[in-house]
Amino acid sequence: MQPWFVDFAEGIDDGNPIYLSCAECGSSVLPPRTVCPECGTRTLEERSLSETATVTASTTIFSSIPKFADETPYTVVIAAFDEGVQLTGQLRETDSIEPGETVAVDVEERGDDEWLITFSPTD
Ligand SMILES: [Zn+2]
Repeated sequence: MQPWFVDFAEGIDDGNPIYLSCAECGSSVLPPRTVCPECGTRTLEERSLSETATVTASTTIFSSIPKFADETPYTVVIAAFDEGVQLTGQLRETDSIEPGETVAVDVEERGDDEWLITFSPTD
């Protein structure tokens, strides 16, 4: 797993998720970018990311790569944060969720520096 992703996941695990904000144009991106995709400057600064996000899409996976084969079916959620970034993660605590619902982001450690992003409903 990529070192940046381990850092990113550990930030979520510690309750301090981060994203990168461009000091020049205000764009929001996720690691591991070093250059702003909008304006091309290297003025990305770490900022705190909310621990909740809004579901924009979800899909249930019935057959998967071998690593996740034991877990099918599972639901993958794309959720948008107020800060302007999106993350994809596995849904927990429920089998389905609708766009517009609020979810809390978390991570699960799956062995050596392997982390999985998860989302759970907040109500
Ligand atoms: Zn920029």
